[in-house]
Amino acid sequence: MYKKDFPYFQNSKTVYLDNGATTQKPQSVVDATVDYYTKYCSNTHRSGFGDAATATTEFENTRIALQKFINANKKEEIIFTKGVTESINFIALSFAINFKTVIISSLEHHANIVPWHMQGRLKGSGLEVVNCNSNLDFDFKHFEEILKQNPNSFVSIAHVTNAFGKVHDIKRIISLAHSYDCVVMVDGAQSLSSFKIDVQKLDCDFFVISGHKTFGPTGVGAIYIKDKFLDIVEPYQTGGATIHTVDFEKGTTFLNSPYKFEAGTQNIAGVIAFKESLKYIENIGYETIQTRKNELLKYLDDELKKLPDIIFYNDIKDCSGTRSFNFTGIVHDDISILLDKMKVAVRVGHHCAMPIMNKLNIKGTIRVSLAFYNDFEDIDKLIIALKRALSMLKD
Ligand code: PMP
Repeated sequence: MYKKDFPYFQNSKTVYLDNGATTQKPQSVVDATVDYYTKYCSNTHRSGFGDAATATTEFENTRIALQKFINANKKEEIIFTKGVTESINFIALSFAINFKTVIISSLEHHANIVPWHMQGRLKGSGLEVVNCNSNLDFDFKHFEEILKQNPNSFVSIAHVTNAFGKVHDIKRIISLAHSYDCVVMVDGAQSLSSFKIDVQKLDCDFFVISGHKTFGPTGVGAIYIKDKFLDIVEPYQTGGATIHTVDFEKGTTFLNSPYKFEAGTQNIAGVIAFKESLKYIENIGYETIQTRKNELLKYLDDELKKLPDIIFYNDIKDCSGTRSFNFTGIVHDDISILLDKMKVAVRVGHHCAMPIMNKLNIKGTIRVSLAFYNDFEDIDKLIIALKRALSMLKD
């Protein structure tokens, strides 16, 4: 029903079930990208001529659109980056580095683990990791024990985890962390495509966003920085466009946010086109997206359960559009090769979440991640392909 809005589906016969890796882009996003390059391609915030002014206005309009979309208090709280990886690295280096302890969960993506390792933090020395139970539920009791011993820490947790699609009760995490005077960053890479985010209601201090996982272009993302931190966070990169004055003797003075954080020429086309994906989501509505994804997920789960020797690691309660599984005695990489031959796209492997795979004592999983534009037929095709692959591998 919605596939007609996405040019990929007109051109590809692939059954696309890898939305956790990246989502498809609606025609309006593609058109906005082409429009920029073909009609008014110029740099932003520099020259004053007509096309450059149009580019700057369109770029800044995305900032305002994103501010409204996540209900930030003001547009200065929105800073563009190239995605969640850059957003987390930025905050890790320019702000969180000053904290004695960083607290994460055991289900985090490497993007929310490796930057802390780069600061010399390991579990028990500058890094604390909240356990999950056998159903991968966030262990609030353990979290509170860590908080009691480490008040005033920096907490960085994914809203929706990528490897298993587990939805964390992020509001509860934030308020508990705040009660121990912690500062909280939310990794929204997997959540903005499915959940209405209101940063003021959540009361998070930082919220990081990935454009390409939200039906927008690759190479664009953003970070919401709560007003009260804007003057405390240092620029992560510096150079052109960030400065107020530069003098060989006196050094550099910076502009205010957001400009002091956006050094060099930005992904202008990407930022401009990103607002089209936000408009697209608004037109469809989160309620429709949720209902559709839940229907599809239930059907997927019911059909997968009929396959022999399937192993799940969590139930579908609290899952957002993702099922991660294995088959006893089957190497997941072999499944991937066979599914690819049958034009079914899923992801297999550790999904950039090696620590949780180690904890489960597995090398990886087969991950099917849905978007609202998938349909029941996609799931039927996946199941047929899985049955064929299993029969080949078991022979
Ligand atoms: N965090 C999570 C939970 C993710 O799923 C991803 C992408 N797989 C990232 C971070 C990295 O995001 P990006 O691709 O925007 O850098």
